[in-house]
Amino acid sequence: MAAAQDQDSNVVLHGVTKRFDEFVAVDDLSLELARGEFFTLLGPSGCGKTTTLRMIAGFERPSEGEIRIEGEDVATLPPHKRPTNTVFQSYALFPHLSVEANVAFGLKRKKVAKDEIAERVATELRRVGLAADANRRPSQLSGGMQQRVALARALVNLPKVLLLDEPLGALDLKLRKGLQVELKRIQREVGITFVYVTHDQEEALTMSDRIAVMNRGRVEQVDVPEEIYARPTTTFVAGFIGVSNLMPATVSGPGKVKLDSGLEVAASTGALAAGEGCAAVVRPEKLRIGLSGETEAAGDGLPRVEGVVESSVYLGTATQIVVNLGGDVRMTVLVPNADEAERQRLPGGGAKVVLSWEPDHMHVVTESVGGDSADPEPALSTNQEG
Ligand code: ATP
Repeated sequence: MAAAQDQDSNVVLHGVTKRFDEFVAVDDLSLELARGEFFTLLGPSGCGKTTTLRMIAGFERPSEGEIRIEGEDVATLPPHKRPTNTVFQSYALFPHLSVEANVAFGLKRKKVAKDEIAERVATELRRVGLAADANRRPSQLSGGMQQRVALARALVNLPKVLLLDEPLGALDLKLRKGLQVELKRIQREVGITFVYVTHDQEEALTMSDRIAVMNRGRVEQVDVPEEIYARPTTTFVAGFIGVSNLMPATVSGPGKVKLDSGLEVAASTGALAAGEGCAAVVRPEKLRIGLSGETEAAGDGLPRVEGVVESSVYLGTATQIVVNLGGDVRMTVLVPNADEAERQRLPGGGAKVVLSWEPDHMHVVTESVGGDSADPEPALSTNQEG
């Protein structure tokens, strides 16, 4: 790839493969990250996201392919010569040094002038909300605070690219949610490219400008969060992001698919040819549910399938209903609990129901090349009711 093409790209990976002996951890990966982008590598454990991050950082060398940062081929550069800094899940702070000394450490080694160090350290500690804690030791801080120190320590070096490997993974859910919002604010403020590794799809959707969903060393889809969620392109992405709501189908002609349940519906079939297997996705909140026979409740005139309610779970803000369409096909429906009387009328276990959806809300996805090994964390907590 010519350097001229990299002008607006901050990080370019081209045909990058990483093998550990015979095992291919990262397989022919190509990505272009824009300057100032919050870019997330998302995928299940073992899909190669950390290995990809470590290759950008210089801790691992690609077996094949090229990595450029700011147009420069960094293949021969060791980590400390690259314009990158990494924040790890384990904060890796010096326990015997104060917060301030931890953050100042790298600048001191580079022999930056004392006044400048003091100013830059103070700026970063203010940015991460730790100005009042400069003289404390890491052991006197909470996990969240220690991670802020690690962040300040990375930012103080003014990297061109900040690499973050599951930085919130060790924190409890509430703290993690707070820090997600704050990390995003800090990234906007400093304008540095962030490459963020996580297996948490909700975290990726919340924070990222773009997401690369990885599966078995390959990128399955790269897009903005809204597209990844609303228009997944493969069965793996559809299953890994949100609740897996797939109806097996076959392309029956241009712009038409036939669900295995028998229904033929119009759909965007892209490059798929007639006869090819695929799956139709409708997100849980886009499905309407009504008792069989109550056509109005289920949306008259809309595409529809029949099934039997397997479970109904109260989730506080919504009710999650799982409907068995026959065989192993299950669809999850999410109904907002806006009205208590309406909630009471929702069909319970064993009820025969009709699911329907607006045609725009159904998308056709193809089988994943890497297989559907997704074992995502449940998107919603469960609280069985009946
Ligand atoms: P996790 O979230 O569990 O770290 P990941 O997506 O970051 O998952 P990687 O750490 O990149 O995955 O690992 C990808 C694959 O490569 C895994 O199967 C892992 O066992 C393998 N792997 C990683 N590093 C090495 C190594 N140094 N030697 C041999 N195999 C490795």
